[in-house]
Amino acid sequence: MSISAPNSPEHQSSVIPISLCFDVEPDERCVNPNKRTPWSGFEDLYGQFRLRRKVLEQAVGSPARFCWTLRLDPQIELAYGSADWVVKKYRSILDQLIAEGDEIGIHTHAWRWDTYSQKWIGEHQNDAWLEHCVRLSCGTYEKCFGQAARVFRFGDRFMSDKVMRILEELGIVCDLTPEPGHIAVRRLAAEELTTGWIPDYRRVPRSPYQPSRFNFCKPARFIPRKIWILPLSTGHVKDGNDGAENLTMVMGFPFEAVRQLLEQNLMSDGRPYIVAVARTDVTLDSFTRSQFDLFLDHLANHPLRQRFRFTTPLETLRLLNKQFKG
Ligand SMILES: [Zn+2]
Repeated sequence: MSISAPNSPEHQSSVIPISLCFDVEPDERCVNPNKRTPWSGFEDLYGQFRLRRKVLEQAVGSPARFCWTLRLDPQIELAYGSADWVVKKYRSILDQLIAEGDEIGIHTHAWRWDTYSQKWIGEHQNDAWLEHCVRLSCGTYEKCFGQAARVFRFGDRFMSDKVMRILEELGIVCDLTPEPGHIAVRRLAAEELTTGWIPDYRRVPRSPYQPSRFNFCKPARFIPRKIWILPLSTGHVKDGNDGAENLTMVMGFPFEAVRQLLEQNLMSDGRPYIVAVARTDVTLDSFTRSQFDLFLDHLANHPLRQRFRFTTPLETLRLLNKQFKG
């Protein structure tokens, strides 16, 4: 990867790829398995982006492309009757996004329905279940689109070396799961049931890398995996008590925090890039919707906007690294 110092001429004039990635999933995290509620967040966000895309394109002076990762896993299979429900239900929307040049990827969660407790359990410690979730998702994608998916993002920041090996085997080119700086935690929402751990990402690089076969959080020193990891944009944001917390650039989080993260990442020592994510329910809540709108308006009016390119994750990798052949 070509690295230039923050004040070098190359650094000051280079294109800055910005990948906005949306996890296309049900509005609720723990869906009612007896109700096939439409994914109204996705419908709403798609409608908004028809206009947003034009505004962002005019702001930066080049075509804007985005990434949409689909839920095709056992939770969807059980609750909606088939793992490919989102493709069947929203085929015309997905075809229009593809026609715009957007990337359609996969977003997999490890939820398993527990009949005893009548609750969903995030099975992060069950390797056989994790493998089933990933293979069902990737196989369903290939049946729906006639080709293997290239971009993947595991839900709830979960990843393991075993899952990374399976993703590589199934042809995934770019993984968007690791979020640098976060410590290991049991779960992301206190009231939910999970097993195992969400990994420690404190040593994950803040630039794209091909992971070690023994530890996906580290770049390989000798024989890398073929798959690339494009770490999400994260950083430290001041909390109200003179401290700072590690935060991921999630669209819909409080705008002031996301703005701080954006500036930190634009000033990074290496070649800057941005990967920001959101669930497709981001516009359904009035607060998160207002923060989301503020962030996108900010991007469209940013002093560096003429260097911005709204790119898919694969385009970002191509722009950042000449060695990337995806
Ligand atoms: Zn998710």
